This record gives sequence, structure tokens and C-alpha cells, in this order.
Amino acid sequence: KIAKFPLARSLEGFDFGAQPSLDPQRIRELSVCRFVANGENVLFLGPPGVGKTHLVIALGREAVHQGYSTLFVQAAHLLASLKQAQEEGRLEERLRHFTKPKLLIIDELGYLPFEREVSHLFFQLVAKRYERGSMMITSNRAVSEWGDVFGDPVLATAILDRLLHHSHIVTIRGESYRLKEKRRSGLFQ
Ligand code: ADP
Ligand code: MG
Repeated sequence: KIAKFPLARSLEGFDFGAQPSLDPQRIRELSVCRFVANGENVLFLGPPGVGKTHLVIALGREAVHQGYSTLFVQAAHLLASLKQAQEEGRLEERLRHFTKPKLLIIDELGYLPFEREVSHLFFQLVAKRYERGSMMITSNRAVSEWGDVFGDPVLATAILDRLLHHSHIVTIRGESYRLKEKRRSGLFQ
């Protein structure tokens, strides 16, 4: 049940007033974690600083509270880890590690484009988890741009097909909370 969240973030600490593009009721519904019980995915999409990581950590904590095994990982780390495992002939073991948790949280997917072989490794993970475990993913790229991220339109379609089949997409718009805070404190125009 150790999720290794990089920061302490909670739903109580999220200021919904500062984020009008987000329906608080939607987040409250997700916090019940039925999506985890059902093996559904949640994608948080939006520009930097709008609270995507905050929300997946907060929801991940709810899942842990409810007894779901949960793992949080940065996308770059996940992909590097799969690539290294493949080079060392331990890919199956690594895939099992990332398939086992009932909820896998992948932060910052698509921040950098993938090499083709790495896209294929990611596809294997998504295929293994499909209809078995949930994923919560954050990305600053729109789903329509994921073809570019994965570098191969056929692979991108195969990945998106499985990711989106049972999924909730939460799109957050607006400006960075960090910049807004700075402006409020008068440090930034
Ligand atoms: P993103 O992952 O979308 O880039 P983060 O979740 O890292 O954004 O948010 C940036 C910082 O601002 C974090 O410290 C986060 O806790 C805080 N933050 C963002 N939105 C809110 C909000 N609506 N209420 C409270 N804190 C917020
Ligand atoms: Mg983030």
C-alpha cells in the first residue's frame, strides 16, 4: 500500500474557487474511488500549474485509505525503468511490478516524446493493465496530440484505444496556480 507520493496533497487543501474550469462534484465523485473498484482510468489534462499532480496525489491518498494498493510514478521514471529492465532481460518482472497495484498513477505523461521502442514498452504495460487495474494519468498534452508523443500512429491508436475505453477525462483550463499566487502576493505582475 506504499504509494510514495512526492508531496503531501489533499482534497481539503485544494482551492476549487481558484479553479473555475473544474467541477468540484466531479472530483468528489472520483474520491469515492468507484473508478478504482471498476478498473477504470482517469486522465487529468491541462497546462502546467493548474493542479493536476495535486489532484492525483489527493485522489491517490483516498484510494490508499480505502485499501487499494496504489503506486505513484513519474512517467519519465516509469519509461526509463521499463527500458532498463528490457536491456537487462528483466522486463516481465518490471511489468509485473507496475501491473500489480490496483491503481497506478503516472504523472506527466507526454512531457517528452517517446522513442518508438519505449512506446512499445508502454503499450505492453497498458495492455497488461487493461480491464484489470486503474490508471490515473496526468498530461499537459491533449489526447489529439498523443500520436506525436508516442511517435507511431499505429501504436498510439492501440494505446489510446485501451486507455480511453473505460475512462474519465478531466480537462483543466486556466492559468497556473503558482503564478496566480505570486500575483496575489504582489511579487509578480
Ligand atoms: P500541475 O501538476 O498541473 O502542473 P500542480 O498540481 O503541481 O500542477 O500545482 C502546482 C502547485 O500549486 C502545487 O503546489 C499545488 O499544490 C498548487 N495548486 C494548484 N492548484 C491549486 C488549487 N486549486 N488549490 C490549492 N493549491 C493548488
Ligand atoms: Mg504536475
